[in-house]
Amino acid sequence: MEKISVAVRFRPSAAGDPPADRHWRVQDESISLVAPGSGVSFAFDHVFDPSYNNAMVYDLLIKSIIQAAVDGFNGTAFAYGQTSSGKTFTMSGSEEEPGIIPLAVEDVFRTTKMTTDREFLIRVSYMEIYNEEINDLLTLGNQKLPIHESLERGFFVAGLREEIVNSAEQVFELLKHGEANRHFGETNMNARSSRSHTIFRMVIESSKRNPMNLGDVSNTDAIRVSVLNLVDLAGSERIAKTGAGGVRLKEGKHINKSLMILGNVINKLSESGRQRGHIPYRDSKLTRILQPALGGNSKTSIICTVAPEEVHIEETRGTLQFASRAKRITNCAQVNEILTDAALLKRQKLEIEELRRKLQGSHSEILEQVILKQRNDMHKSELERERLAMELEEERKARETLELRIKEQQKKIENLSSLSISSYNTSISTQQKVNSTIMFDELSVSRSHVFRTPNFKAMADDFVVKRPSSFRTVDSNPILENFDNTADEDLWMQLNKGCITDLDTLQMTPNMKHQSFPSLEMSLEPSVDEEISSKRHHSLESDCGFNREQFEALREKCTIMERACSLLREEKTSLVETLSLSKQDNEHLRAQKEELLKELNTEKQKMKELKEEIRQFSLAFHQREGLLTSIYTKSKAMMENLNASKVSIPEVCDS
Ligand code: ADP
Ligand code: MG
Repeated sequence: MEKISVAVRFRPSAAGDPPADRHWRVQDESISLVAPGSGVSFAFDHVFDPSYNNAMVYDLLIKSIIQAAVDGFNGTAFAYGQTSSGKTFTMSGSEEEPGIIPLAVEDVFRTTKMTTDREFLIRVSYMEIYNEEINDLLTLGNQKLPIHESLERGFFVAGLREEIVNSAEQVFELLKHGEANRHFGETNMNARSSRSHTIFRMVIESSKRNPMNLGDVSNTDAIRVSVLNLVDLAGSERIAKTGAGGVRLKEGKHINKSLMILGNVINKLSESGRQRGHIPYRDSKLTRILQPALGGNSKTSIICTVAPEEVHIEETRGTLQFASRAKRITNCAQVNEILTDAALLKRQKLEIEELRRKLQGSHSEILEQVILKQRNDMHKSELERERLAMELEEERKARETLELRIKEQQKKIENLSSLSISSYNTSISTQQKVNSTIMFDELSVSRSHVFRTPNFKAMADDFVVKRPSSFRTVDSNPILENFDNTADEDLWMQLNKGCITDLDTLQMTPNMKHQSFPSLEMSLEPSVDEEISSKRHHSLESDCGFNREQFEALREKCTIMERACSLLREEKTSLVETLSLSKQDNEHLRAQKEELLKELNTEKQKMKELKEEIRQFSLAFHQREGLLTSIYTKSKAMMENLNASKVSIPEVCDS
């Protein structure tokens, strides 16, 4: 259990605008509000005045979270404060002064490179919550994404693009791309950016390297998976103050709603255990995404940015109150180790690692890129498969519900049929009763009678024909001798005492009100019963037909989706094939390289020998040259002597 780290950061005062520091005193790491409502003092982990730059804020507050994320702990850092108080400056920074996100990205890659005993796989995503809708910033048009929950992944944004990366530069490119998508179609970039929350996410998976067999992962090896969320929240100013209307008002309401829910969550979490009660994480997308960061399994830091000017004193007070409540939250972070195939690293590793190992000898950056692309392709097709599986599951559930409905309808039809028959039988037994001179008046029915329909179980939406309990004594009624399928008009007239059957006494559906049961006669009218039954029958049959059509349509959809699934499977197979082909290519290249190396060595050897020959030759040449030069010098001297002394030729020959 550890408390969330909370820091307050003052941005420099706007030019010519003196800071409202007469309203507060900063002492060490606490801030006291002087007036109004004096005496309130807030203690924080850090209070950064404008002399602290982004790198210092990163080192003091965030660095430890990033290191922990590489070690397998979830981590979250977010900036909270009113618009223009420095949230984006703190999180993203500028060209000259990089903020927490670029510093963290570089730190992650630096640390993973230094951790030689572990193998890492890093993927990133970038999203925005705008007007309570989640948009993918890495894929244009990938909008209004839903949040799903699964046992293995917890809460996750379905359909969000995740890119596998292996360098900080790659991440910066993606972030730039994301920013461009964010501003697409926006006339006022700043207006939008201060009205949406952005979440940059890194998922870091790692496994122990096996020193005997680098990169090999056995099935029992645990993989560490940590999620790092770096969040730039929308401004927390009040609408009343900004005087917004129209679209701005709508945006403001959404911002305020999600920030208010964030505030509620933080309030609840800051209360002591017993008073705490329900934490409303589910009330907004932001709090659902940040759930592990607030009171859950994550190391979390919050930077509350404040604007120092007098005009912002109310917002500053609000931000400080938010910060002091957040300071009371306790999280319980632990290393996330998983043994299942949920880790992407585990699923991809065995296939890719072999290739990578082969590449380690040859410095082929191009092939590294090929591997990265293939990893991403595989990951994408996995995500797509997962999405399709989810849709398939939903379709399956819908189909099951429909099947259930059809079954119920069929049951109703069956019940209806049996009811028609029993109603007919009942009428016959009633006729017998008439023959036995039972007084009809005695048969008038009160509401307290138990109604029962033969062969019929009471069901929520089955229809029931009311019948007096006295009619249950079927056994005592003598069977009509002249039993006939046709109702005898006279008999019916006698039975009804000339009354006309009241159809209202038939209780057709549970939604129909219980009507009074004025006379017995109405249930003694088989033709009406049958007519109603047949109508009901027809309507149920048409319902059934409609449901069957729907069912067929769903089945067709399912088949299409199953086909899509199998196509994806095929795609995966072809990707794996491509991978194995490129493995072969690589093998081939390596063999070629080795041959070339051999040839090169032979050539080198030849060249060496040639050089030696040349050296010998030039040595001999120099010797010859020396000899010739000395002969030439001697003969030249002799000639000179000869000319000078005019000696006779025989003497010269002798010398
Ligand atoms: P927010 O994201 O909170 O709306 P911004 O980060 O966009 O605010 O900051 C508003 C302005 O103030 C920007 O021009 C930014 O460069 C500047 N600013 C904010 N904080 C600092 C700081 N600590 N040092 C220098 N400039 C800052
Ligand atoms: Mg901003």
